[in-house]
Amino acid sequence: MQMSNKVKVVPCSGIGKVFGLVAREAVLKAVLELCPEKSETVCLAYLVTGDEEVKEMMSGSVCITVDGCPKMCASKNVSLSGGIVVDEVKVLDTVKDYKGKKFGSATELSDDGYLVADEIAAKIEQRIHEIL
Ligand code: SF4
Repeated sequence: MQMSNKVKVVPCSGIGKVFGLVAREAVLKAVLELCPEKSETVCLAYLVTGDEEVKEMMSGSVCITVDGCPKMCASKNVSLSGGIVVDEVKVLDTVKDYKGKKFGSATELSDDGYLVADEIAAKIEQRIHEIL
C-alpha cells in the first residue's frame, strides 16, 4: 500500500451519541472541505481489525484524533494501530463553551450542534497547517 503523507484525522465511532456525531461531522468538514489536499480520514472500525494492511498504512503516520467522550476510543485505537497521535481533539472541550445549548440527537445535529462541529473543524484545520 502507498504511504500517504497527509495527516490522518480519525473520529471516534460514537454511534448513538450526539457528541460522536459532532466528532464525525467535524472531521468530515475538515478533511473534505477545509483541507482536502493535506488530510484524509480513516474508518476507526477498520483500524481495530489490526490486519497487516492496517499496520502498514498506519505505521508512523501522523494522526489527529477526535473523541466524543472521555473514553477516547479514537486516540487509543489509533495508537494501538501504530499511528502517531500528535493531537487529541476532545469534543467536550469545545462543547463547554456552549452551556445550556441543545446539540441535536445521535442521528441529527441541531444548528448549535453544527456550530460546535464547525468550530472543531476549524481547530483541526489549524492544527493540520501547523503540523505540515
Ligand atoms: S470516545 Fe465515547 S462517544 Fe466516542 S466511540 Fe468511544 S465511547 Fe463512544
